[in-house]
Parts: sequence; structure tokens; C-alpha cells
Amino acid sequence: MLNGSTQGEVFLIGAGPGDPELLTLKALRMMQEADVVVHDRLVSQAILDLIPANVQRIDVGKKPNHHPVPQHEINALLLRLAEAGQRVARVKGGDPMIFGRGSEEAAVLRDAGIPVSFAPGITAAQGVSASTGVPLTHRGLAKSVRYVTGHCRGDMPLDLDWDGLAHTDTTLVVYMGHANMQYIAGELMNHGLPAEHPVLVVVNGTRPNETRLVTQLGALQTKRAVIPVPGPVLFIVGRVVSLLDDMGQNATDAILDAPELRQVLHG
Ligand code: SAH
Repeated sequence: MLNGSTQGEVFLIGAGPGDPELLTLKALRMMQEADVVVHDRLVSQAILDLIPANVQRIDVGKKPNHHPVPQHEINALLLRLAEAGQRVARVKGGDPMIFGRGSEEAAVLRDAGIPVSFAPGITAAQGVSASTGVPLTHRGLAKSVRYVTGHCRGDMPLDLDWDGLAHTDTTLVVYMGHANMQYIAGELMNHGLPAEHPVLVVVNGTRPNETRLVTQLGALQTKRAVIPVPGPVLFIVGRVVSLLDDMGQNATDAILDAPELRQVLHG
């Protein structure tokens, strides 16, 4: 309820990768109890449709000029709404604490004395693992899993712990990787991974238009990953990719040759 005399609060909510059935009950309740929802571009329409019609929505995923609203403006907006007594649902794709800047927003709000609570979300890696049937760990194939960002702030070079990442028994999940995946594949091979090491590329994971491609590090390094299908892209690098349901003996080539996938990855 809007009430100028009482302080508002902010719910930092993970909406998951897109499929509305992956929302937690807590996330849904918080969205429905809010006065206003502030959401990102990655929050799917199917999830926005669950917000009651009387709840105000603010899309900070894009401005009229198509650029996202800068983080400091989002922080200021959340603060302003909460200080005006509103219950604010800040809804983010996936999990707000995994490459989601949820903790940055929480810090600003807490510094101003605004109560903050969280609802975790299914992160893209886990959503895609479930939708494709590719596990992130598997006895004999992957003893550990690492989530890494494929993109650094501004023009900063991508400075990852390549030696630590290039292990055949580790699954690597690369978020925000599509612009740098050629470089990432090259560095992983320079640090010891074989050119045949499998890679699963998933666009729009868990959504009705989910698109998959199976390839290998060597191919990724030499071909430019052009993703004309609009939507978020996740890369899963590791031997676990061999467990993809519909992958037979020679399926890698078959899948690379499939016309609908040629649009996803071409040289
Ligand atoms: N907090 C989010 C990640 C935000 S970073 C989470 O926990 O999932 C944005 C990146 O997440 C995208 O560039 C993409 O790599 C990945 N991503 C998010 N949703 C996705 C989806 N439905 N399918 C594929 N990748 C997704």
C-alpha cells in the first residue's frame, strides 16, 4: 500500500530463466504483494503476465533509445520508491545473486535503512540443465562446475583464471559469453583443453523458442558465433555435453549441419 508515513521495503526477486513454472512460490507471492514491480529485460513475458493488473510496472531493461537504464539510476529509483512508502518488487532474470547485481542494489538500500529481502531464482545454468537433460556434474565426467562471466565491465579485457578453468573434469558455464566466445575457446585450448572438447550453446533456455547447438572448442574458435536469434545465450563447456538426450554417435556434425542451427553458428 502506498503510505507516505511508513517506510517501504524492497523484495529482490529471481524470476528464473523464463519458464514461469520455475518461479518459486515465494517469488510469486512477493510479486503479487508489491505495489510496484521494477524488472529487467530478461524477465519473460510469461512471468510478467502473472503480476496483477493493478500493480505498477517499470521496465528498466531498456530506455526509449534502447539502452538499458544505468545501474546508478536503477539504484536511485528503488530508493525513491521505497522512501515513498512503496513495497517494491525488484525482479531479475535467473537468480539475483548470480551475475545479477542483486547484492549491489541491496547494499545501496541497506545503507539508506530500507529493509531488503530476497527470493532466489533458478539460475540460467540450472534451468538449461533441466531443459536439455545435460547435468552439470556427473560421476566420471565432471567433478565440479564453475559459473564464469564472458564479459567484463566496459572495455576491460577478459581476465579469467584460464589455468584453473581448463580442466577436462570441470564443467564451465559461461554467462554473457557470446561476444567473446571465440577468444574464450582459444584461451581454454591454449591452457590445455582439447579442440574436441564439447560445447552446448543454448539460446532462450527454458522458453518455448529454446534453441540448442552442439559444437566443440576448436570449431567455436575458428567460427564466429553469430546469434541472430534474439535472446540470452548460455555456453556449457564440458564432457557432460555428451549426455545430451538427442546426441547419437555422429550427432555433433549432424547438428552443426542442421539448417535451423546454421543460423545460430556460422563462420
Ligand atoms: N542472474 C542471471 C544471469 C544474468 S547475466 C541468472 O542467474 O541466470 C545474463 C546472462 O545470463 C545472459 O547473457 C545469458 O548468458 C544468461 N541467461 C539468462 N537467461 C537465460 C536463458 N533463458 N537462456 C540462456 N541464457 C540465459
